[in-house]
Order: sequence, then C-alpha cells, then structure tokens
Amino acid sequence: MPIFEYECEGCGHQFEALVRSGDVPKCPSCGVENLRKLLSLPVVKSDSTRAQALKAAKSRDQKLGTERTQEQLKYERSHND
Ligand SMILES: [Zn+2]
Repeated sequence: MPIFEYECEGCGHQFEALVRSGDVPKCPSCGVENLRKLLSLPVVKSDSTRAQALKAAKSRDQKLGTERTQEQLKYERSHND
C-alpha cells in the first residue's frame, strides 16, 4: 500500500496517509478533502528502495489492468446472450 504525504489546503496540517486506490484521504485535523499531495516521499530512502517501490507500483498497475479486463469480459458476456 503506498504511503503519500499530504498538506491540507484548509489548515496547513501535514500528514502521511495510506491510500488504497479509490480512497480519498481527509485531513485528520479538520476533516476536509482539499489536500495537496507532497512530492517528497520520506519512506523512500535510497535508489534501490525507489526501484523496488517503482517495481511494486508497476506490478500493482498490471494487477489493476487485469482486474479491469476481467470486468470488461464479464460485462461483455452478460450482454451477449
Ligand atoms: Zn486540515
């Protein structure tokens, strides 16, 4: 699960959040969803860690792509009889 760093546009609170795809993080301080994603990733400390993170992201995207294809197939099948 990727960890992102956010800054709240409302109150300026900075925090890290675990974000699953489809989730919308909220400011834990004031509860708004108006957040700015910060580019710094404190969990990535070296090039090898970064490469592993990229690899993990890539395989996750592929997995999502597979799920999307299966959904598409299911949709086509259910509309094809
Ligand atoms: Zn806030």
